[in-house]
Amino acid sequence: MIRLVPTVTVVGLVTALVATLPNLRAQQPAPDLILWNGKIVTVDEKFTIAQSVAISRDRIVAVGANSDIAKLGGPNTRRIDLAGRTVIPGLIDNHMHLLRAGTTWQLELRWEGVSSRKQAIDMLRARAAAVGPGAWVFNIGGWATAQFADDKKPFTRDELDAVAPNNPVALQESYYQVFLNSPALEAFGIRPNAPDPSDFVKGSILRDASGKPTGVIRGDIAATRPIAAKLPKIAPQQLEAGSQALVKDMNRAGLTSFGVAGCNADVLEIFERWKAQGRLNVRVFCIGGASAATPEQVDRSLTQIAQMKLFQGDEYIDHVVFGESVYTPLHDRMFAVKSDPRPEQLELWRRMAMEIARAGLPLHVHAELRDTIDAFLDQIEAVNKEIPIRNLRWALAHVNQINASQIERMKKLGMYAAVHPWAVINGAIMHEGFGEGAYDMPPLGTIQSSGIVWGLGSDGTAANQTLPLTTLYFAVTGKMAGGTKVMRQPISREDALIAHTRKNAYFVFQENNLGSIQPGKLADLVALDRDYLTIPADQIKDIRPLMTMVGGRIVYEADAR
Ligand SMILES: [Zn+2]
Repeated sequence: MIRLVPTVTVVGLVTALVATLPNLRAQQPAPDLILWNGKIVTVDEKFTIAQSVAISRDRIVAVGANSDIAKLGGPNTRRIDLAGRTVIPGLIDNHMHLLRAGTTWQLELRWEGVSSRKQAIDMLRARAAAVGPGAWVFNIGGWATAQFADDKKPFTRDELDAVAPNNPVALQESYYQVFLNSPALEAFGIRPNAPDPSDFVKGSILRDASGKPTGVIRGDIAATRPIAAKLPKIAPQQLEAGSQALVKDMNRAGLTSFGVAGCNADVLEIFERWKAQGRLNVRVFCIGGASAATPEQVDRSLTQIAQMKLFQGDEYIDHVVFGESVYTPLHDRMFAVKSDPRPEQLELWRRMAMEIARAGLPLHVHAELRDTIDAFLDQIEAVNKEIPIRNLRWALAHVNQINASQIERMKKLGMYAAVHPWAVINGAIMHEGFGEGAYDMPPLGTIQSSGIVWGLGSDGTAANQTLPLTTLYFAVTGKMAGGTKVMRQPISREDALIAHTRKNAYFVFQENNLGSIQPGKLADLVALDRDYLTIPADQIKDIRPLMTMVGGRIVYEADAR
């Protein structure tokens, strides 16, 4: 493998740049860093391809041809030869439960990018050996059996007992079901000829004809969550190391910024500390709010909404939008095929939405099923008659079942679509539930051609896998992880990349700072091991970042080999 070669490693004292002008001239201080001899996919409005980028401190100061950018360099300018590699803007995931993941990430057996069942089993065996007898081996979603190209069959209790006889094992397939082995069933008190433990959802514990538990717990988020709640959490003193491992994996995948659904306070505190120390390697834009679960809670939520203050942070950490739930009884279940929003529930939803509009807050709300989307749009149109929401960047999130007329209604309201293709791992499960209709979930071609502002996200780390290049592969080929074609509205590589970079910058309110490689923007970028724009589409998922940069700092470099 050819590496990125730093040809000069001395970083000079930095003279502060007062302004970052598009056209740097000789009287400007020389840049700190020049990346040259690359294929710079700027993702600017014209999708310009350049060769070289100059960076001073944390910002891009010039982009252009090798010869033009080289002239800007001074004696202390560090130069990195990209050796022809492709560079793209730092990837932004507009919706990931990133901070929550820090509480379990290091303990989990993650299967992102694993497309062989045999490899998954080998990893399981190795983890059991590494943690030793009696310790849990588990994961909390982010994978599905259908991603295994060699064999998609579910795991059985006997099989897991054979692989890890001395460890309790819990493997959560997205939010669909969990596979347990015998020690795990024992640990949870799930036994033959005994009543189900009271904290499991009725009917979710599958048993064979003789009453013996099969090891499968099935039934959407409600059924899987009690198990996740019982699994080990990282010790408080390990939370920093666990979150660091998570951030490293995100940088390794080319991710530099996130819309974060639910910013856990304990983890955010660690990120704040890293920021103060100048070593926060991702940007975190929180999606949070005061949802209500019952009619009684609505009044309390209304008070909290009126007091909410967003945009008090900076370009590393900020709270930017209310979400992802408003009135939670209307929160679509992940694998439901139909919803039935009732008028009295929608009235409560509208009261809250009205208050969100009145407070001038952006909104990013979970809306998945057709009837839910229509019902929410009815409410939002009613709100909009009293308080125009056009400039508030209200977005529906996930929207896998959205249709063309709903997109038109959203466009009229000035709304955005935060698209999270659950099918990247859940495609096979969704085809079971929705049949032929699943081929248009999400209808990426329709969304793209509508002209609505839209961006890509994963909704990881449980509902979906987290690798952005796997999401881009899905968007371009219609194939889920593992290669099965599950979606028939693929889009171009350019449009997919725009949706994962420049357009996503709008969702995190950072379009002036992030999303493209242009003078004045923050120097967040990723050098790839092969060219996203020209390799066969089936190989997009195999692209590996060689170097990830956040604010001009190299936060990840692939090992030299
Ligand atoms: Zn959601």
